[in-house]
Amino acid sequence: MIKAVIFDIDNTLYSFDRANAAGMAAVTEYACRELKLSAAEFSALHKKTQERLNQRMGKVAATHNRLIRYQNMLEELHLPLSPHLLKMEALFWDTLLEKAELTQGAEELLRDLKAMGFRIGIGTNMTARMQFRKLEKLGLLPFVDFAVTSEEAGTEKPDPLFYEFCAEKAGCAPGECLFIGDSYTHDARGAVFAGMKALWYCPEGDFQDGGTPSQMEEGITRIQKLIQAVDYLQDSQKEPGL
Ligand SMILES: [Mg+2]
Repeated sequence: MIKAVIFDIDNTLYSFDRANAAGMAAVTEYACRELKLSAAEFSALHKKTQERLNQRMGKVAATHNRLIRYQNMLEELHLPLSPHLLKMEALFWDTLLEKAELTQGAEELLRDLKAMGFRIGIGTNMTARMQFRKLEKLGLLPFVDFAVTSEEAGTEKPDPLFYEFCAEKAGCAPGECLFIGDSYTHDARGAVFAGMKALWYCPEGDFQDGGTPSQMEEGITRIQKLIQAVDYLQDSQKEPGL
């Protein structure tokens, strides 16, 4: 019997890819104008910095922190941190938030799940402040009962410890949790390996992590619309009594 439903945020509850592209475009335009870089130079330095930080820090939430990323880029360029650093960070996130669009059916789904009596959680690889800003802006925070960010967990999906922490916060066994997200590796397979059920949200029919799973693991169901989670849960709740 499922008691808690846990959601990924980015590309699940809203359109991260489009909003991120808009944020990157705004910061690139700033760098061209104020730092006198070409768009190609900015892009190459951004990629190199991100790779270096990932290598140094490992799988932690700080690898997503744009303040640290832009700080390292400015240091590498021997450019002053003031006033660029905080301006670039604000520009990126403010643009992303402005362009973030709720996934079709997301609010309706959370409302329905609440009415059905499920506890609603968040399980996301990212720093806490930005994820709560996103949820607040999208109007979803009032539906959320608990949240695990990788900043708080100290580790990232698909580390089994991440999902254990989610279940602990949900107040039930992993087998009583349903995880919903767009990443097959992070949201579906990782959750199932930790003993949860999972809905892999894959609206376009493509595989987000660089390949198509030849055979999906047991316990994973693919959905193309978020609202299909309601039917899945209604069906799964009937099973034990039949
Ligand atoms: Mg995602």
